[in-house]
Amino acid sequence: MFKKILIANRGEIALRIQRACRELGVKAVMVYSEADRDAKYVRLAEEAVCIGPAASNLSYLNMPAIISAAEVTDAEAIHPGYGFLSENADFAERVEKSGFQFIGPTPESIRLMGDKVSAKQAMIRAGVPCVPGSEGELPDDPAQVRRIAKTVGYPVIIKAAGGGGGRGMRVVHTEAALINAVTMTKAEAGAAFGNPAVYMEKFLQNPRHIEIQVLADTFKNAVYLGERDCSMQRRHQKILEEAPAPGINRKLIERIGERCVTACKKMGYRGAGTFEFLYEAGEFYFIEMNTRVQVEHPVTEMVTGIDIVKTQILVAAGEKLPFTQRQITINGHAIECRINAEDPYKFTPSPGRITTWHAPGGPGVRVDSHIYTNYFVPPNYDSMIGKLIVHGDTREQALARMRTALLETAVEGIHTNIPLHRELMVDAKFMAGGTNIHYLEHWLEQHKR
Ligand code: ADP
Repeated sequence: MFKKILIANRGEIALRIQRACRELGVKAVMVYSEADRDAKYVRLAEEAVCIGPAASNLSYLNMPAIISAAEVTDAEAIHPGYGFLSENADFAERVEKSGFQFIGPTPESIRLMGDKVSAKQAMIRAGVPCVPGSEGELPDDPAQVRRIAKTVGYPVIIKAAGGGGGRGMRVVHTEAALINAVTMTKAEAGAAFGNPAVYMEKFLQNPRHIEIQVLADTFKNAVYLGERDCSMQRRHQKILEEAPAPGINRKLIERIGERCVTACKKMGYRGAGTFEFLYEAGEFYFIEMNTRVQVEHPVTEMVTGIDIVKTQILVAAGEKLPFTQRQITINGHAIECRINAEDPYKFTPSPGRITTWHAPGGPGVRVDSHIYTNYFVPPNYDSMIGKLIVHGDTREQALARMRTALLETAVEGIHTNIPLHRELMVDAKFMAGGTNIHYLEHWLEQHKR
């Protein structure tokens, strides 16, 4: 096992990884920007290194600063968390070239999955079902593009090969709008991701977002940890997640989970990963793979009892997965609400000083957050300030526990989306389970204020 790990992230995930390190008896080195000097995990750290000013590109995205922090503190491995450099193949490569272990997959796996066209091709080879669409990148010839769209069938969606974070996508309903949409998406993709390649998929009308968590070691062992339902989204951003996905046949989940495991073994995948699918009319369609720990990983931890972050570290240290597929069982139900510092209905960011923070508690309640009373939420980063996670024997019990937990939670001094979560937890359709990816946007439209 490592003696010392550097955590190249901030906020709740930095604290989450620090906790995993403590449990493993591994020393954690924290890095922080000037805006995060007072963070709880920095104060609690045995060692912490300032890596630059508030702006992410000068601190949390600053590869030389992070690598030299690992050098001066004698860390052996770097955990990238999520966001920032976590899916940057060049970073993973530089980390390993500098003699540190990257806690994540190989740079090759990150690169393969980071290009959505090559990712899809790898999935097709591994027998993972994908959304019907163009085989690879769209050609330049408009006549050929029209022909492909006709075969796929309208509506179609044009997506950037290098896209991410819900950007670089355009839905096309008619042939008349097709070529213009392709040209515009290409131009945007070139500017935003440095890669103008785009591809085409059938636009599914009412899918759910279902994803499969996997873990793999370097001995070709891989397992899946069931699924998560992340259909409650606004502008392609997840706001609450649950496990298992309501109303989906376990046999279907097993079948798709096994395909994901096969794909991991085929590509020599290591560490934690997530296969994201759209699910419609009983079918799964792969859309992309995330090669890192995800925000919503706790719901899977709650229903499986497996610590995903600890397992990432074990596997990176060259250990075998400490469990087999047969030993993984899904118990009860878990729900996670992302707590964001923002106006609950207008979604404008609400950074500033938290004057009161009262965390909920009780059976089956978990709070993953770095905030505290008097903490200043910096305006420089993502608005998520924590996650409230509950577990129950049944979905009904989990919902009841989440309602209580949300009632108990008090954040003053800034606005948060807790009022929105409170309303969603008593919404009849959400309570029934199985809402699709458009449900929240429609709900917000109807509840405009
Ligand atoms: P990103 O990497 O930017 O998150 P994804 O490929 O994961 O991009 O897609 C993000 C979201 O866009 C999906 O969760 C879904 O809501 C929507 N989407 C993507 N592809 C399709 C499709 N073929 N049909 C319908 N919706 C889609």
